Amino acid sequence: MIKIDGNKFKKELLEEYKEKIASEHLDIRLDIIFVGDNGASEVYVGKKLEAASYVGIRTNLHRLGMKTTTKEVQDLIKSLNEDDEVTGIILQSPVPKGVDFDSCAGLIESRKDIDGFTKQNIFALYNNDEELIPCTVKGIIKLLTHYGVNLEGKNVVIIGRSSIVGKPLALALINRNATVTVCHSKTVDLEAFTKNADILISAVGVPGLIKENMVKEGFVGIDVGTTRVFDEASGKNKLKGDFDFEALSKKASLITPVPGGVGPMTVTCVIENLIDAKLEEKKHQKKMNLKINR
Ligand code: NAP
Repeated sequence: MIKIDGNKFKKELLEEYKEKIASEHLDIRLDIIFVGDNGASEVYVGKKLEAASYVGIRTNLHRLGMKTTTKEVQDLIKSLNEDDEVTGIILQSPVPKGVDFDSCAGLIESRKDIDGFTKQNIFALYNNDEELIPCTVKGIIKLLTHYGVNLEGKNVVIIGRSSIVGKPLALALINRNATVTVCHSKTVDLEAFTKNADILISAVGVPGLIKENMVKEGFVGIDVGTTRVFDEASGKNKLKGDFDFEALSKKASLITPVPGGVGPMTVTCVIENLIDAKLEEKKHQKKMNLKINR
């Protein structure tokens, strides 16, 4: 069994990105809108800002209070869309109840949509013409590729059908010629599906949901689930995945731990999407200049 090391791969990739940004003189700016005071978001936003600064990307954090309205967030997004200094925009989820996330995130200009949530980017993914795709999805594909997993013809089972993980991941895997089954809370006899998976990806958020008897020998396991649970032994909160990791490790050929598997890749792919967005912007500018000079 090989335990996937997302942190090590993240480090290698960040070095590559740092080098690329410096050598190609890419002037990139990331703007993150953080509404409210969600503790987990505080950690995720901190990690994105840290990684961005490390590779030489300028950052701008817009912290807005709990009483912020949808219109205020929309107005901020519109002004960032128009600002040529801004390469990428992230509206950190979740937002407080008074803000309608979808109607705000949907306003982000697609070429600045680092999370890949806008209709245009999702449609491009649907059409196998991928542009900016959701960072967790991109991170999972990068991990599998890096560890030499061939997706073509593989029987992949995804558990979870959310708009940010399960659904876009299914599309991205179909685009890579995998045979994909998506399970969810209404799936009858989950085990019947998971047992046949060459690659099993769980994005649920129920610690220990996937047990040893539910997987086949030699499967590849990707655990997206992250749930904070109180650990009596240490008296601290710990992150737990959906896999019964110790037991599943005995049967897996390749498996991600939680933490240290998919999580670091999500942050890494924020940086990759920013670089892609910048390169696209440069291409677009070049085309426009050519038109003007004609
Ligand atoms: P979500 O929107 O809550 O979706 C959870 C999915 O799991 C739903 O489709 C739900 O089915 C399904 N589900 C719930 N209970 C189930 C059960 N007993 N059996 C089978 N399916 C079940 O969550 P999400 O935003 O996709 O996130 C999922 C997990 O991944 C969370 O733990 C989250 O923290 C984690 N996550 C991690 C990263 C990372 O970078 N590591 C990124 C994103 C999310 P229904 O649709 O029928 O309700």
